[in-house]
This record gives sequence, C-alpha cells and structure tokens, in this order.
Amino acid sequence: MAGSSKPHVGVLALQGDFREHALVLRELGADVIHVRRPEELAAVDGLVLPGGESSVQDKLSRTFGLAEPLKQAIASGLPVYGTCAGLILLADRILDGITGQQTLGGLDVSVRRNAFGSQLDSFETDLDVPALGDEPVHAVFIRAPVVEKVGPQATRLASLDDGQVVAVEQGNLLGTAFHPEVTGDIRFHAYFLDKVRAHAH
Ligand code: GLN
Repeated sequence: MAGSSKPHVGVLALQGDFREHALVLRELGADVIHVRRPEELAAVDGLVLPGGESSVQDKLSRTFGLAEPLKQAIASGLPVYGTCAGLILLADRILDGITGQQTLGGLDVSVRRNAFGSQLDSFETDLDVPALGDEPVHAVFIRAPVVEKVGPQATRLASLDDGQVVAVEQGNLLGTAFHPEVTGDIRFHAYFLDKVRAHAH
C-alpha cells in the first residue's frame, strides 16, 4: 500500500459471513477485496477469515488452490484475523473436526469446534478485553468454538466467566470465537487494522 494510508484488506469469500466483515472494514476506511483466488490474496495487506462452517471452508480452500498460498502468507507474517470458523482455520490444532478436516494453522492453540453443544448453540455475553480498553465487548457466539489450550506462542485476550478462552493473539494473528462483525462494536476490527497498518509500513 505504498504511499497510501488506506490498507488493502482481503476477506476470504469462499463461504460464511464475509459480507458483514467487508462492511465493517470499509466503515473503518479499508479498501476491501473479496479473496477467492491466489492472485487476490497476493494483493492484500491483511486478511479476515470469516465465520461460517470451517469444514466447508477447509475443503473449498483446498479445492480452489488457496490453502497452500494461505499457509505461506500466514507463515510470512501477513496479519490475519479469524472469527469463529476463521479461528478454527487459524488454529494449529483442532478438536472435534470432521474426519479429515485440516486447518491452515499459525496460532499456537488447540480449538474445539462446536464447544457449547446443542443446549447452548448461540448466546451473547459481555467480555472484559483489557487490550481494547475498559468498556466490555458485547460478544455474540454462534455454534462457537473454544480455545481449549493456549500454547506458549499465543496470548489470551479474553475469557468467559468460567475461564474458557475465547480470544487470542500471536504477533500478527488474531482470533475470536465470537462475531464482532454483527454487533456494531468495531474495536476488534480496529485493533486488527492497527496490525495491518503497522505491517504494511
Ligand atoms: N460451528 C462452525 C464450524 O465448525 C463455526 C460457527 C461459526 O463460524 N459461527 O466451523
């Protein structure tokens, strides 16, 4: 993004709620690109992996020849923010994946899919997120995963009252088990864009 302060941010647009992320990122002043092909990935300063269904996104990313370029981009330091299914894709280790399900990896965490079971498919709660300031973040969980183990490379950003970890970061990688793109609270996206701007400069 040489010479411009408008970051080019991709949203992986294979499946899921990529449109909602695009709206928030545009509201924050980013140039948003829907990424479905390796050429589109090569043009971005940062990438959002949206919520949806991680097993489907996994299959599509391999079918479309995007999985390897995505792994390389993550390894080379591209800022990436994964929400919900996107957090699962970013995790180094997955629990309760479907047979053969793979992740892109990058975040040193173990993530359990659909961790809240059918009794509590979806719920909302307020989270303390010290990295984003004193005001709690209203978080919407939809068939959400949970971070069951935070490895030594990763850092916890937020937990539920019972201690279950639901937001993490590791260098340029950010992951939330919930969906800030549907609440109007844009602080996680703003926090991510700070990483994107810092990386692009
Ligand atoms: N349960 C979904 C999965 O396993 C994630 C749900 C979501 O992204 N809202 O990928």
